Amino acid sequence: MTRITLLGGTFDPPHLGHSRIAQVLLEQNLADEVWFLPVGEHAFEKKASPAAVRIEMLERIMMPKTRIEFYEVEQQGMSITYETLCALSEKYTDYQFSFVIGSDNLQQFHLWHHYEEMLARFTFFVYPRKGYDLNPLYPGMKVLEGVEPVTVSSTQVRDSVRNNQSTDGLIKPAVASYIQHHNLYR
Ligand code: ATP
Repeated sequence: MTRITLLGGTFDPPHLGHSRIAQVLLEQNLADEVWFLPVGEHAFEKKASPAAVRIEMLERIMMPKTRIEFYEVEQQGMSITYETLCALSEKYTDYQFSFVIGSDNLQQFHLWHHYEEMLARFTFFVYPRKGYDLNPLYPGMKVLEGVEPVTVSSTQVRDSVRNNQSTDGLIKPAVASYIQHHNLYR
């Protein structure tokens, strides 16, 4: 079975931390492919950039064995990760799905809908994120080993752009030029 790991996120914008997560999963042969799964737009909250913009930036960071999965941006309203995993498993019956999160998600993980059933059915990889303990870890979670923490966040990138600071070492040049060209985050 082809093993697919979903990397869910807002990707506003996608940064080198996201690319690193995908790279580690592929290099360590934990996944055959990594699918970036951008979240949809919130109906009322207007916090994130439009999905179309986030997708265009994601297209600029694709590498071999990665692709964008549009399932959640095509849904109305907020998606539930467990439902996405079930729906994709039904749609792609030859693929075995897992999910990857940064360790910043662990403290709130018990608030994810159906988290226990979800962990029983799907492996969750955890990428250690600086400043966030590997705690709590639930059965069904696998911490990625031998990885260097990457300190970048999308918030940091948006702040840097707003303050006219360099984004070198935070995002790929193709994403930086997209942000500049479309005058994002100012
Ligand atoms: P923001 O700063 O806007 O909260 P973010 O940098 O956390 O954004 P997201 O798109 O929300 O980016 O992240 C998608 C996924 O990638 C999440 O599971 C998050 O934990 C993980 N992630 C993002 N950056 C890192 C990082 N530097 N190290 C480990 N995991 C990360």
